[in-house]
Amino acid sequence: MTEQERNTIKTNIEEIQARIDHAAALAGRDPKEILLLAATKMNSAERVQAAIRSGIRYCGENKVQELLDKYEQDAYAGADLQFIGTLQTNKVKYLIGKVSLIQSVGSVHLGKAIAKEAAKKDLCQDILIEVNIGREEAKSGLLPEELTSAVEELSALPSLRIRGLMAIPPIADQETGNTPYFQKMRQLYDGLAILDLPNVKMDYLSMGMTDDFEEAIACGSNMIRVGTAIFGKRNYSTP
Ligand SMILES: *Cc1c(COP(=O)(O)O)cnc(C)c1O
Repeated sequence: MTEQERNTIKTNIEEIQARIDHAAALAGRDPKEILLLAATKMNSAERVQAAIRSGIRYCGENKVQELLDKYEQDAYAGADLQFIGTLQTNKVKYLIGKVSLIQSVGSVHLGKAIAKEAAKKDLCQDILIEVNIGREEAKSGLLPEELTSAVEELSALPSLRIRGLMAIPPIADQETGNTPYFQKMRQLYDGLAILDLPNVKMDYLSMGMTDDFEEAIACGSNMIRVGTAIFGKRNYSTP
């Protein structure tokens, strides 16, 4: 990795932080309450370390094997590691004890599997519930109307702690962008918070990526997950 690539990552992070500050100011919010998580998929351990040295405090990985490979290389040292991708129940065991937060819990079945593995290791695993806010056939996550009963069921498991909600809205094509989805997420988040369930603490509303994080901040997001704007376009042909 060249010095220039390192500088690019640093400049990118500074620019994103300035945009977060601006979006927060417009919304009358404190920018410090908005966490910037680097979505590190397809980026080498060295590039992840460059981002951490430039101020990134949260990393999110999408694939279990990729996370384990980079974990071995100490890629995430100095940052908090989270999981943000599709997770199969048989791979849960590899994550427990390594990640502080599993953001992508889109079913009661997966939540239960996480609770079971965490209990085995005598741990309590923090999770976010993923909502399929665009009701997309191909996407995982609970539908809004399934949310309350799922959270109630999972809140009964002592080795799990629900810390909030996560969503990946559809690719924006209409003029309104993703604002209606983000607003709906905010309502769901507030609605769960007032239920005041045991083991449920609504701390994180994780939404907003490279193309829409300012909109998400306007709607109350306090964790944005950004890949492309930090690392540049991912090269899917030569990983
Ligand atoms: C890749 C990814 C992101 C970041 O996407 P960009 O558009 O590159 O910023 C955010 N969240 C999840 C779950 C991702 O997989």
